[in-house]
Amino acid sequence: MKVYVDNAATTKMSRTAIDAMLPYMEALYGNPSSLYSIGQAAAEALQRARETTAKCLGCEAREITFTSGGSEADNQAIISAAALGEKKGKKHIISTEFEHHAVLHTLNKLEKQGFEITLLNVHENGIVTKEQVASAIREDTCLVTVMYANNEIGTIQPIAEIGAVCKEKCVLFHTDAVQAAGHLHIDVKKQNIDMLSLSAHKFHGPKGIGALYARKGIQLTNIIEGGAQERGKRAGTENVPAIMGMAAAFEEACGYIDKNSAKISALRDKLIDGLSKIPHSILNGAREPRLPGNVNFCFEGIEGESLLLLLDQKNVSASSGSACTSGSLDPSHVLLAIGRSHEIAHGSLRLSLSKWNTEEEAAHILKAVPEVVAYLRNMSPVWRDLKESKKKFIL
Ligand SMILES: *Cc1c(COP(=O)(O)O)cnc(C)c1O
Repeated sequence: MKVYVDNAATTKMSRTAIDAMLPYMEALYGNPSSLYSIGQAAAEALQRARETTAKCLGCEAREITFTSGGSEADNQAIISAAALGEKKGKKHIISTEFEHHAVLHTLNKLEKQGFEITLLNVHENGIVTKEQVASAIREDTCLVTVMYANNEIGTIQPIAEIGAVCKEKCVLFHTDAVQAAGHLHIDVKKQNIDMLSLSAHKFHGPKGIGALYARKGIQLTNIIEGGAQERGKRAGTENVPAIMGMAAAFEEACGYIDKNSAKISALRDKLIDGLSKIPHSILNGAREPRLPGNVNFCFEGIEGESLLLLLDQKNVSASSGSACTSGSLDPSHVLLAIGRSHEIAHGSLRLSLSKWNTEEEAAHILKAVPEVVAYLRNMSPVWRDLKESKKKFIL
């Protein structure tokens, strides 16, 4: 048995998505900007994909720009809002400490260009409140960007409420919805969202394709110069097969949100209950509201990387947090943001589930993780000091 529980890093493509792509690689490979028939067939497909994507978000097709993924959509949204703000002399941006690096690093760059960035603290429960946002907004604030659901600890933010605060104060509101799209119901109009980023490979679509929703009237800045594709806002020949795969995967995921989330969250709850029994462990982030597929724990006295390697030997593919920071020795900025110490943050485990995980797999995980944790603690000098009371337990 191979147990894949790293769906927050990426997902396996669905058959529907693959089938939707194949015709555009085989027969209908034309460039959508060409006038002959296979080009026009591609152009029509592109329009259908844009309409499908828009329908899943509750917006209009012309409000969708296809990008190379979630990172590009985040970059473009933030850079566009900053450019619009700068024109009005507004150079203050509000975000949170636990955003994805696609957001945080873009904000760092803007800070060097003279923007002032306020990063809101995140409560230990992994939730940012509308009151925090409201009290940070100033006369010169041009953008609030708060992620929809956190990619490491799975906590879901009060997006509609934060959007309402921004709307009232006439500040643009962007949300990185890469972990939410296809997993939670989204309605950009009802939720007061001005800009939203999504990525296909997080909902069983292909990698290297995503979308940026920008409410009509919001002038986007192009970050890739060239041809006039995407209404002049994103140059480069459209990746038609990937766009078709994304639209099919998104439509499929959105059609089964309730059914999938009931199934996946039941497995999640079983895992949370089971892993909570491991002594000196803690669930990261509130139990609710939480992504249906997210489980994230810290275990005191162990080191996350060794945990992952040993789990891999037991055929469990999991993660310590974000795929972007694995390989570096820095603890997760998300776990530090919710107040975990460096020492505790190093012993983290994220399991992110999909509709394809089974009860048998959950049972396998619930056997494997406690075994591996006990094995590592046995070898750990830190654990020995804790047991011999030379050090105090934190958890
Ligand atoms: C995966 C992810 C991204 C990056 O998306 P890519 O398509 O891989 O560039 C951005 N934000 C969040 C929250 C993510 O989980």
